[in-house]
Amino acid sequence: MHKKLFIPGPIETRKEVLEKMATPMIGHRTKEASALQRGISDKLRKLFYTKNEILLSTSSGSGLMEGAIRCATKKRAAVFSVGSFGKRWYEMAVANNVPADIFAEEDGFHTDPKKVDEVLSTGKYDCVTVTHNETSSGLTNRCDEIGEVIKKYPDVVWCVDAVSSAGGMKIEVDKWGIDVCVTSTQKCLGLPPGLAVCTFSDKALQRAKQIENRGFYLDLLKLYNVIQKKDYQYPSTPSLPHMFALDYQLDCILEEGLENRFARHKEMADYVRAWAKEYFALFPEEDYASDTLTCVKNTRDIDVAALRKALNERGLEISNGYGDLKGKTFRIAHMADLNMSDIKDLLEQINDILKF
Ligand SMILES: *Cc1c(COP(=O)(O)O)cnc(C)c1O
Repeated sequence: MHKKLFIPGPIETRKEVLEKMATPMIGHRTKEASALQRGISDKLRKLFYTKNEILLSTSSGSGLMEGAIRCATKKRAAVFSVGSFGKRWYEMAVANNVPADIFAEEDGFHTDPKKVDEVLSTGKYDCVTVTHNETSSGLTNRCDEIGEVIKKYPDVVWCVDAVSSAGGMKIEVDKWGIDVCVTSTQKCLGLPPGLAVCTFSDKALQRAKQIENRGFYLDLLKLYNVIQKKDYQYPSTPSLPHMFALDYQLDCILEEGLENRFARHKEMADYVRAWAKEYFALFPEEDYASDTLTCVKNTRDIDVAALRKALNERGLEISNGYGDLKGKTFRIAHMADLNMSDIKDLLEQINDILKF
């Protein structure tokens, strides 16, 4: 039995999108391939509110995160972490010999723009990474406010992990001043996993040109250069099935309307948050609670594994807490193409199982 996915990736994918993955193949060095990638890039520019170039990577989002920190850091990176995915960026830096320091908040607490300012004012850093939406704690950072601070430091390249928010929450890349904004297909975009995308500013481009060893497969400059030289093509063979599906899904997203899509996510989030507060508590600071997933604090000490199992028997899947938060929290994703009736049904089933 298929279990409907309310987990923060991979998310439930519409049948029409899955069917697009089965489009007959084309050569990746053809005019059709160029047109496909150019179309995707144009549509993604709308989604990210940017004029910058769009890079695609046949990897999950982690691939472009790794490429970004490597290609954007000449001096030293300041990694602002609010949980597991922030830590991941630091681990990537260390694994790639990129000098970096981590500035971590306790789980459930946001990145304070003032702290970013203090750290950057030391002059030690030329790259900053921020997690827009931390999936382990269900928290959204205020990247607009963080951006205001980073603008004071023109030499700093700013990389944002928007893997679990892009397509579900408004991210104004150009207005906020983000240089590299990374996301994956299997979260708010509503596709299967396997492709990552990022925005790439001129500042990020100029920085990448100064980095001697950028790696090979995840070299953002190479991805950029091939687009320029070969009219929107990819250096190696990309996942064309994902590209067919993404092109189609972006049409659907733009047809729904970005503002409508963000409002739908917020409506689902408000509903789940109200439920969480009635029966449990929210895990993150309430003012920073995410619109794409809710991390519920297990104040009743329920057996989360047993709840998940009971939901599985009813064809539904939610997530346990991530890492150390397992059992102490559980997570309900409300992203991509899920709607209010899906969410109401899920919560009714949970109420029934827990006898609320
Ligand atoms: C899922 C996720 C990632 C990892 O993305 P992959 O596509 O699995 O590599 C990174 N950051 C955040 C915030 C995520 O939610």
